[in-house]
Amino acid sequence: MLQDKERVTKRFLEAAEKGIVVRKSSLSCQDLVHHLSKSGPIILLTDASLLHCDICKVNKLTSELRGCLPWSASYTGHYIVLCGYSLSNEKFLYRNPSLSDRVCAMSFATLDEARCSYGTDEDAILICSKSWTSESQ
Ligand SMILES: [Zn+2]
Repeated sequence: MLQDKERVTKRFLEAAEKGIVVRKSSLSCQDLVHHLSKSGPIILLTDASLLHCDICKVNKLTSELRGCLPWSASYTGHYIVLCGYSLSNEKFLYRNPSLSDRVCAMSFATLDEARCSYGTDEDAILICSKSWTSESQ
């Protein structure tokens, strides 16, 4: 256990030396929106079974269907990329790597549920891009 802890601490220190900022903190919706508006996209670990898309609906239907089945309870980690937001609709725009041809949308509340689900550890990678313009509406 101790060795493991030391190894992880060392990794974090190495990342810091390379200019990668690793912080242990919880991000709020406001933090995400702020980053999206100013800095760049965000890679988020979410629970795939809780992902919805208000645009595709197809997605929504299958995940609702899965909700009726017992094996849906198991956690499936899935990375998505937040690329924009709509404050007026309280929605995040995101790209789902398994649906690469489109930009999807889900409400702030749904995203919070998917990213804070047990098992994700609220993993997030905030990318800072100099030439960033978010797909805000
Ligand atoms: Zn979609």
